[in-house]
Formats: sequence, C-alpha cells, structure tokens
Amino acid sequence: MTRWVGETLYEAYQQRFKADKILFEEKTEHQDLIIFENESFGRVMALDGVIQTTDRDEFIYHEMISHVPIMAHGQAENVLIIGGGDGGVLREVLRHENLRCTMVEIDASVVDMSKKYFPDHSDGAFDNPRCNLVIADGLKFVKETQERFDVIIVDSTDPIGPGEVLFTSEFYADCQKCLSKDGILVTQNGVPFFQGEEVTVTQARMSPHFVDMSFYVVAVPTYIGGFMTLAWASNNQQARKQPIEVIEARFNALGLDTQYYTPAVHVGAFALPRYIQKLLKS
Ligand code: SAM
Repeated sequence: MTRWVGETLYEAYQQRFKADKILFEEKTEHQDLIIFENESFGRVMALDGVIQTTDRDEFIYHEMISHVPIMAHGQAENVLIIGGGDGGVLREVLRHENLRCTMVEIDASVVDMSKKYFPDHSDGAFDNPRCNLVIADGLKFVKETQERFDVIIVDSTDPIGPGEVLFTSEFYADCQKCLSKDGILVTQNGVPFFQGEEVTVTQARMSPHFVDMSFYVVAVPTYIGGFMTLAWASNNQQARKQPIEVIEARFNALGLDTQYYTPAVHVGAFALPRYIQKLLKS
C-alpha cells in the first residue's frame, strides 16, 4: 500500500510526499527522525514531522546560509555551525579552503543517518581535518566556549523541541559574545508567509545585542510558502551592504561552482518584499 508522509508544521495546510521506500524511521534521543525516498525529491528527511532537507533542493538553502555571510565577511577563518546535522552547510563552508569549522549538533543520530543516507550532503566533509564535530546543545556551547568565530551559522530546526532554545534572546546574546570583531551571525528563521511572528519576535530578541540586524530571503521549494527568511546580525554595519563589485571580486577569486548563489543573488537577497518589511519594527 502507498504511504504518504504529511508535514505537520501547519494546522490547516500541509504538503505531503509519496514515500516510495522508508529507509529509516525511529525516535532518536531528541526527536522523531524519518528518511524516505520520493520520486520527485529523491531522499527526504523530516524531524518531528517537519521537512528538513531533500536531495533535490538542498543546494539552495545550504549555499545561501553559508556563502552569503562568508563572502560578506571577506576574511573569515573560523566558522561555527549550530545544528546542521545533515552536513550540507558543513560541505559548503569547507569549500572555502582557508576556513576551519566547528559544528555543534545536538543529535548524533541525525549525523550518523545523514552520513549513511545523504552522503552527498556532507560529501566527505565530516572527515575533513578542518572540521571539528561536537555533539552538544548549541546554547550550552556558545555559553561556555572561549573561542571566537568570524561567522556563526545556525542551521536549526523550527522553534519547537530541541531547537527552541536557539531562538531565545539568551542564545543571541551568547552568540554575540563569541563572535570576533566584525563577526556575522545568520540563523534559519522560518517562512514569513506562514510564520510571520518569527520575523517580528527574532527582530525584537536579536537586535538589542547587535549594531546591525536584518533579514535576507531565499526560496526553497520544500520549505513551502514562498520565501524563507534568514536572520542576519553583526556589529559591522557595512557587512550587509557590501557593493556587488566587492562580492564579485571575492567570488571570482575563489572560483566556486555554485548552483544558486551568485554575487547578484547575494546582493538582491537583502531586498525584502513589502509583506516582510511590514513585519519589522523600524
Ligand atoms: N535546514 C533545515 C530546516 O530549515 O528545516 C534544518 C536542518 S538540520 C537537520 C537541523 C538540526 O538542528 C537538526 O539536526 C537538529 O538536531 C539540530 N538542533 C536542534 N536543536 C539543536 C540544539 N539546541 N543544539 C544543536 N543542534 C540542534
């Protein structure tokens, strides 16, 4: 019998996938994890009923949450990823050969199962000597670490379950403390068409800790509802407003072969549609 896996994120509206084959389904120590195959999207992962990643469209989100802050910074050497257990962000970050990276993921099972069922997401990045994988709660890590990071990327689940702490004022304050002088924080911040309050609440909680705070957008097919917002915070006001010529020069020097990210997409992503602007307090 055909099994359909429905996303339970929204009460009155759902996407569902035909699961041609269930590859893994188990309650881990922290959340319900399911991995299955779908004809259109390839392998799909959901945690606690919420789609996390698919083989087919993962490049969009992973390129945009990684390359935008790294290229805007221009001299990043030390990157921190919080969450990101599938390894997609790690893969993109380590494509910058001058960088080293610490990744703090709470759920070892997500890492283990992603290595097994989504090998192209990490593409060997977990074995890279420039990667330091820590299995721990991201909130606890940023509170205790003495290290300083140039870029912090929060690739979290939604603010329910273990990801909830990664949307608190306390977490943003601790991130600010472990950023280097011109450091940049970016965080996964939901789909504002459905989760508008995440934009309003994040702005209220994050902006007191930084000189500059805003959002940029990316459209990921399986994060249904149009644009997703990624929150942006830094004490360097210029980082968000780098001219396209600067980003182009950095991008060309690296010779990255991307599938979504371009310098023009980078600059344009900070132009917020009016319905998103209206969620912000000036
Ligand atoms: N791109 C995805 C999205 O937007 O839906 C997120 C993918 S990634 C798999 C999310 C990861 O965040 C999960 O592996 C989860 O275990 C991890 N996570 C959730 N809460 C965390 C916490 N407090 N500390 C560290 N990692 C956490």
